[in-house]
Amino acid sequence: MRALAKLAHEEGLTLVERPVPEPGPGEILVRVEAASICGTDLHIWRWDAWARGRIRPPLVTGHEFSGVVEAVGPGVKRPQVGDHVSLESHIVCHACPACRTGNYHVCLNTEILGVDRDGGFAEYVVVPAENAWVNPKDLPFEVAAILEPFGNAVHTVYAGSGVSGKSVLITGAGPIGLMAAMVAWASGAGPILVSDPNPYRLSFARPYADRLVNPLEEDLLEVVRRVTGSGVEVLLEFSGNEAAIHQGLKALIPGGEARILGIPSDPIRFDLAGELVMRGITAFGIAGRRLWQTWMQGTALVYSGRVDLTPLLTHRLPMSRYREAFGLLASGQAVKVILDPRA
Ligand code: NAD
Ligand code: ZN
Repeated sequence: MRALAKLAHEEGLTLVERPVPEPGPGEILVRVEAASICGTDLHIWRWDAWARGRIRPPLVTGHEFSGVVEAVGPGVKRPQVGDHVSLESHIVCHACPACRTGNYHVCLNTEILGVDRDGGFAEYVVVPAENAWVNPKDLPFEVAAILEPFGNAVHTVYAGSGVSGKSVLITGAGPIGLMAAMVAWASGAGPILVSDPNPYRLSFARPYADRLVNPLEEDLLEVVRRVTGSGVEVLLEFSGNEAAIHQGLKALIPGGEARILGIPSDPIRFDLAGELVMRGITAFGIAGRRLWQTWMQGTALVYSGRVDLTPLLTHRLPMSRYREAFGLLASGQAVKVILDPRA
């Protein structure tokens, strides 16, 4: 089979031929129908400090994908051969204190598909059966492929006291921030403000926002105060950008909630007393997806049609054109780039 792998400790990825893997006990073999490129895959491509510290080549990359169950290993009752599945990318240990208290999303021993073991940029992949989420057969594979990052957005929007009836600022209109705007819109939040310096990406938020803000052209805080009167009740942070994080915290009314999914590339400094403590802000760090609550919430939104993810599927390419696909995403002139592993 064909697979896209990191072979050496250097920049780039390579299209390789591999034997089709066999599912062991508790595992399934998935025939991959659609895979999507994530920012994490770009880090692996670029071989930056994070990737050098985490990735052990050779590794088949890719952790956002969907497909059909081709075979099941010994002991597997569910899913069944022929089921259409999306994959939770985090493999959890079930034994650490986080897992034992139901907080699987912060398992101390998390292994990630396409990061710590072979992933879905391949014609076939073996995964633990429990990581499969079975979809209705009429859900397009391309939509199913992005349910994993969609879960990040759903987790962030629904954490804490949710967003229904609340004013919300979303910083970062990358794929996950845009998905969060869709969820906030579908959940009755308002007003919704979305900020991003990239006009192409920001434009995708238009149908789900009361106000778009390009922080390079306007003073975000001033716009927030003008639109809301005083400030927003909820900050949803998806940029990982230091300036955006400071501005976002300042945009909150005292007593507001900050939910932060964005990951800064370096440690950042902030005024704990002035920005958080004395303003009574509640901050939530948001990691991964709650298993399996977030998947239930997210798929309910998608299956019901309340959230339509298709406008975010901006590019589709055969996996053989992976260089072009990665270049598109790196340019910022794409939202979700889908790879067809068999072309
Ligand atoms: P992305 O990098 O595609 O999007 C980030 C967006 O932020 C970009 O569109 C960029 O233009 C924008 N941005 C940059 N500076 C900004 C500023 N000053 N104000 C507003 N926006 C600004 O990322 P993504 O795939 O959508 O993921 C969002 C973030 O979440 C990333 O930081 C990613 O690393 C992180 N992430 C975290 C988890 C988790 O479990 N916590 C999981 C997946 C991704
Ligand atoms: Zn664990």
